[in-house]
Amino acid sequence: MGHHVADADPLPLRIFFIPFFATGHLIPLVDVARLFAARGVDSTILVTPTNAALIRVTVDAAAAGGLPLRTLIYPFPSADSGLPPGIENISDLPPEESYKIDLAAPFTRPAHEQLLRLHRPDAVVSDVHFPWTALVARDLCVPRFIFTAVGLFPVSVVTSVRQHRPHAGVARDDEPVLVPDLPHPVFLTRSELPEFLRRDVPLRRFRDEYMEAETASAGVIVNSFAEMEASYSEYYLRARGLRSWFVGPVSLAISNAGLRGGGDAAASANRTRCLSWLSVQAPRSVVYACFGSWCRFTNEQLREMAQGLEASGRPFLWVVREEDGQEWMPQGFEQRVEGRGLVLPGWAPQVDVLNHEATGAFLTHCGWNSLLEGIAAGMPMVTWPLSTEQFINEKLVVAVLQVGVRASERCRSTVDDEPHVVRAEELARAVGKIMDGGEEAEGIRRRARELGEKAGQAVREDGSSVKGLSDLIAEIRDWQSKKKDVAADVVGSYHQP
Ligand code: UDP
Repeated sequence: MGHHVADADPLPLRIFFIPFFATGHLIPLVDVARLFAARGVDSTILVTPTNAALIRVTVDAAAAGGLPLRTLIYPFPSADSGLPPGIENISDLPPEESYKIDLAAPFTRPAHEQLLRLHRPDAVVSDVHFPWTALVARDLCVPRFIFTAVGLFPVSVVTSVRQHRPHAGVARDDEPVLVPDLPHPVFLTRSELPEFLRRDVPLRRFRDEYMEAETASAGVIVNSFAEMEASYSEYYLRARGLRSWFVGPVSLAISNAGLRGGGDAAASANRTRCLSWLSVQAPRSVVYACFGSWCRFTNEQLREMAQGLEASGRPFLWVVREEDGQEWMPQGFEQRVEGRGLVLPGWAPQVDVLNHEATGAFLTHCGWNSLLEGIAAGMPMVTWPLSTEQFINEKLVVAVLQVGVRASERCRSTVDDEPHVVRAEELARAVGKIMDGGEEAEGIRRRARELGEKAGQAVREDGSSVKGLSDLIAEIRDWQSKKKDVAADVVGSYHQP
């Protein structure tokens, strides 16, 4: 029979967060950790040196504000993985080599195990890329929660495709097929599937391990909100037997969102430049174009994009990660668009830009964070997915939520040997569909605004995501007290004659 060791105030919870080596995973998990810390949970982020530098400003600001948030640094397995020292994030490699970071991940297992066993936190929130954390957590009798960095819509689509293999019998790569059993009709072509579902790439084996570790987990913490994805949470429970908790959009839940990522001097100079440029643009006039933290385009594609933005006739703020602008910039481009277009090298303060009143549309690669930040800002979107689950996310934006249009109607994938180039005219036409007014555009803008309002409500007062976080904390407390009961039983039986 269990009884509590002490009835005094419960001990503060201590949670360890272990983000993957990708900026798109790091930013939202740090935000999740901050949310826990804001509820008084002692929160520690396990991170490697180069990645620690990326989040230092954010963590230091939170700690200076009195939040119990800190980092614990462990070495990146450079020698084991063969990666040069300092290369610790997929953004440090060209996209076609990003898998090398995935291949390095298993070498972090000893460090994770050692730190978890040494510090014995009350719960572990682990990126999906680290399946072994499920075993350590089980040994320590604490719950392990999964963080996938994407919403339950893409997770559910992938689950159904793995289970039913609806594309197995389809002759052509560009033939849309219904993905079975989902809450909405979702059609996908084979070329829109993530690479690991299409062919036997080295990372496929890892995906199987992630799935196995899932079943040994307490559930999934999701940067999303119930009003948008509740039916996918139900699907996921049915299909995989796993519970999920929505705590987002984290970009809205965190008040100093502007600090997210890129906290160096260049990024803060960019911030000043962007915000002062936006401040002289007309309300809702600017097309903001940004493609996340690690993608790259060919020179040919960059040239077409430049011409497309120019041809759209709209003001634009375009974030370009590629160096050597002279290689691709159309002749006279900068002079022609002067005052109307800002080409920003490096890192933009994306959340602030999206929430600026001058911004009127978001041209996005549909990375989950960007998608959700766009939704949270009530922004209509032009979708241009490039890889991974981004084509699935595009379906959510365009077909399910109907808050955006596709940049190109043709089938595209950057993993194909001959990537499709989106032409300037296609892009200009798509931007026009959102920016030129008319019934369709008004409908999209209205739905985007309404969804943005729901996202805002989810993180305010007793909103669904505020409650999601409370439920999660209660769940972890429950584990904590059960563990104490077990300890009390052990002590009790020891003293029995
Ligand atoms: N981001 C940003 N400024 C940039 C580029 C990206 O703030 O110039 C942020 C963006 O707000 C998002 C994250 O980086 O939070 C990118 O994550 P996402 O899932 O959209 O894409 P990924 O980088 O994983 O492809």
